[in-house]
Amino acid sequence: QNLVEAIDLVREYRLGEERVRALDGLDLSLAGGRFVSVVGPSGAGKSTLLHLMGALDTPTSGTIRVAGVDLGSLDDAAASEFRRTTVGFVFQFFNLVPTMSAWENVALPRLLDSQSLRKAKPRAIELLERVGLGDRVDHRPSELSGGQMQRVAIARSLIMEPAILLADEPTGNLDSATGASVLELLSDVAHEGGDRLVVMVTHDPNAASVADQTITVRDGKIA
Ligand code: ADP
Ligand code: ADP
Repeated sequence: QNLVEAIDLVREYRLGEERVRALDGLDLSLAGGRFVSVVGPSGAGKSTLLHLMGALDTPTSGTIRVAGVDLGSLDDAAASEFRRTTVGFVFQFFNLVPTMSAWENVALPRLLDSQSLRKAKPRAIELLERVGLGDRVDHRPSELSGGQMQRVAIARSLIMEPAILLADEPTGNLDSATGASVLELLSDVAHEGGDRLVVMVTHDPNAASVADQTITVRDGKIA
């Protein structure tokens, strides 16, 4: 059972009179329980692929199925629900709320579940312990290092128990040693129990040795 299934996937952008094929008939199958690295030259279509897998964007044609859901067929409300419950996102610049503590940032996705932050606090603290920040739960982002902020963001991405975690250059703003420890954490997240898939777009040269699988995107296709 593949968690991600893309068949003849096309995403075309219009720029005035011109059409840009960011994805040009891409086929891809990814199983769960793995840490997959996506590499390739700038402009190859990596971010577009990640956005389609996260239902942040819709295909021009072709099929993209994630966790059994045909993402091309979702209306806005269903796509929003899918992003909230089935996917976790991790970004290069962490995207933490500066006025909130670490645990409040982690608990934040639960607010939309009509859960109060307080109700989600025990799980948020568990996740912070899991990422090695049990002693930083009340710290604000400005009181944390880059690597610690990214660990908070990873904890936040896990609080909805997503089937798939999508990471866009998660080590792009970290020094090499800190980045390596974040890669290890993402690898652990993919491998500990369950069937979770972690897909990461990266230029990090350390990624190849940590990932279970590296796929190269070139000219909108898997190379
Ligand atoms: P990568 O992540 O591999 O650098 P992208 O997926 O960002 O590649 O981009 C693939 C191609 O699609 C590039 O030619 C890029 O300029 C184009 N593109 C991406 N997003 C848009 C957009 N919103 N509008 C127009 N063209 C875009
Ligand atoms: P809603 O449609 O309910 O307002 P959003 O689409 O804004 O929800 O957000 C749903 C999820 O998608 C959030 O976890 C958010 O972090 C993520 N997200 C929203 N916009 C982007 C984006 N441009 N790039 C990456 N992730 C995004």
